[in-house]
Order: sequence, then C-alpha cells, then structure tokens
Amino acid sequence: MIRRGVDVFRINTAHGDRTEHQKRVDAIRGVADDFRRPVAILVDLAGPKIRLGKLPGDQLNCEPGLEVRFVRGDESTAPTDLVTTYEPLVDELTVGAQVMLADGTVALDVTAVSADAATCTVVQPGIVRSSQGVNLPGLKLSVPTLGEADRDTAAWAAETGADFVSLSFVRSADDVGELKELIQSTGSKAQVVAKIEKPEALDDLDAIVDAADGIMIARGDLGVEIDVARVPIVQKQIITTCRRQHTPVIVATQMLESMHHSRVPTRAETTDVANAILDGADACMLSGETAIGDYPCEAVEMMARIARVTEQRYRSHDTEGSRVHGDPTLHGITTAVADASGQLAEALNAKMIIVASRSGATARAISNHRLFVPTVGVSDSDKTLRRMCLYWGVTPLTGCPTEDPTKILDYAVERAREIGYVTTGHRVVMIAGTGLRVSQHNMVVVHELD
Ligand code: PEP
Repeated sequence: MIRRGVDVFRINTAHGDRTEHQKRVDAIRGVADDFRRPVAILVDLAGPKIRLGKLPGDQLNCEPGLEVRFVRGDESTAPTDLVTTYEPLVDELTVGAQVMLADGTVALDVTAVSADAATCTVVQPGIVRSSQGVNLPGLKLSVPTLGEADRDTAAWAAETGADFVSLSFVRSADDVGELKELIQSTGSKAQVVAKIEKPEALDDLDAIVDAADGIMIARGDLGVEIDVARVPIVQKQIITTCRRQHTPVIVATQMLESMHHSRVPTRAETTDVANAILDGADACMLSGETAIGDYPCEAVEMMARIARVTEQRYRSHDTEGSRVHGDPTLHGITTAVADASGQLAEALNAKMIIVASRSGATARAISNHRLFVPTVGVSDSDKTLRRMCLYWGVTPLTGCPTEDPTKILDYAVERAREIGYVTTGHRVVMIAGTGLRVSQHNMVVVHELD
C-alpha cells in the first residue's frame, strides 16, 4: 500500500485490541524504513461512539411500524429489546427524539419512556446487527468526549510515537484542548486531529479549527448526525474554514465505497475524490475499503491516480479563490520568504521547490499556496518529515544532510533526478535558513541544473 501511494495510515482503535494496534504500528514503521519513506501514523480514538450490544440471534429485521425498546443492562433476552454501550441512554431519551441505527440506515422514533425502557417505532426499515453504531441526532450526550478508555489509548499512542492522534465526536474546542494537554504532558509531539461529525462541532467550528493541528471531515457519522443532503455543502464550508486558518484537512469515508467488493469505483466516487481535491482538501482518506475490503491495494492505487490526474489538470489560477496568504502563527520573515519563493518558482517555471524546515511550518506555508510545483521537504527531524505527509503537494525526503545548504541542494537534486522530477536545464528553488543568526527561514536560492 505504501508503494501504491499511502503516506498516512489511520489505526482505528474503535476496533481491535492494543496488541493488534501495536503490531500494525511496528509493521508500518518496518516497511517505511525499508523503503526509506516517511510514512505517518494517525491513531484514531473512538470517542463516545454508542454501539448496540449483543442482539438475540445477532440481528433484527426492523420492519416499518415495528415496536422496539431500549432497555438497561448488557444483554437483552426479548428479540425486540435492545441494549447499548451507553449506560444513561434510557434516562436521556425523550419522546419525539430520533434514534438512528446501522450508519443511519434504520431510523426509530421514541414514542414512550419509562424508568426501565424507552419505546420506539421503526420509521425507516432495515436490518440491524449486534455492535452496530447508534446515533442520536440532536441529543446532547452527558458523557465527556474524551473518556477513560480513550485517555489510556492516547497515552499509548504518544508512547508508541504516533504522529497524529484524532478524536471522534468532538463537540467543542475544549475537547481538543484536553487531548492536546494530555499528549503534551507525556512529552510527545503528536499532533491532534479533530473529527467533525457532530452538529455541535459545526457550531464551534472556527474555535475547533483554531485549536486543532488538523481536521477530519468524518462523513460517515456526520451524514447520520446531520441531514445527509447537507454533507456536500458542509464539507465545502469546513474546507474553506481550514484553508483560511491554515489547518490541514482530511476528507474521509465512502470515497470509493463500492471498491469494498469491486475492482473499479463508480463514476460518482471518482468525481467525489476529485471534487474533494478541487475544494482544497489536503488529504483523502479510505476507511472500510482498505480495512475490510476485498481490494485494498487497488483502492489505494485508484485514489492516488485520481489525485494525480485531477492535480495535473487543475492549475493554480483555477483555484485563486481558495488560495490563502499570511499564516499569522508564522514569523513574518518565514511568511514573506515562502510567498516570494512561490512567486519565483512560478515566474521561472521551476520544476521543484526544496524546503528545509525544522518544525514543518515553512513546508506548510508553501503547501498552502497550492503552487503545483512539486515540493520536496527536508528536515533534521524524522517526526517533521512524517508530519509533512499530510501537507498538500509536499513530498518529504529522508536522509538529507541538513547542516549545510549546499549539501541540501545537491542531495535533493540528485534524489529528484532519480525519481524523474528534474533533469538538466531545469530550475529549482530552495528555501532554507542560513543558520547565521536566528532560526528563521531567510534564504532563497534559484539553481539551474547542469
Ligand atoms: C467517519 O465517521 O466518517 C469516520 C471516519 O469515523 P469512524 O470510521 O471512526 O466511524
């Protein structure tokens, strides 16, 4: 999968156990090292996801008008009694509330509540199975977003060297702050990605985007928590907010859904991936296609192909509206030099930009310009190189000597020649710190290859 284009792997801790997760981390690090490719790991925390418990017979055919009851406890005995992993559910459901099951395919209306049960009627029929998800659109849950189990998983993620930790069902910027604090208290530099999938998160979007290091548009649950018809417009709004606030944004779920069981995607799916890129997404994410699908490698290859073709056809002037300038969190010199190097690269028809970046912030500034000039990132920190995996248009390069700008240029050009980015006569632009005084980036070099 790495060979076919994966640069960030998500480990979804809602499934599997710690031993399995650790095995995956070790496998990813091992293969990435063999390939000398920076590959990032994103550990995804489950958040307060509610699931059905075990159903008698493992499934229930919810026919229209069928009456079912949510009851307390771990196990149900009657075929139409349902238990869940959310203990206070019976207390928090109210008459008139809606309950969605199985990724929103089945809808129930709550018709009566008592001390022991909440009675519901099926209004949208379908089959539900043990452990499937339960969504309660519009209901404010009383549990914290970051529960004990997730705190423990986040501590493991920090210890195992995860590059990103994402939190599901974020409702406010405080949720993000809490996870950041926890991670930082361990000494880890892992970045925090907020998954947007609750209507409350949309109400606090600016602050969440500001607090997080990255955003994931988790369309699976989002499309159940809000009207699925709103998802395309909400996706565009979230991407625009992220672009404005210089925060990387991932579009996730059902991107190539039919490739669970098919070698080729539908035309609607290829268009969806392309449109996410045209909207300005930094990354597109596969979920079930690679986790449990029949064609994981084909799905990766297809997504990478769509990205390549889309980006070839889409020129910077087409995206003028989505361009952003001046990240206020960066030093003014860095911003100005990043802006100028982009202009130079375009004016001189440079075939590559090389950016030497200690924290990754300068690479991020270049990425934000959506320059369509292949950008190679180098750093003396492996963590920074892996962080760059999420930045649009930036390819991190391992093994580069970083102490001397001449050596950076020689190494990057040689590797770029090998992979066919550049050849004799091509121009490249390099942006790096001089190392003379302060750590700000303050040098731009234009080089024509002999
Ligand atoms: C989603 O809901 O789209 C998502 C990415 O989250 P998960 O796969 O954890 O349900």
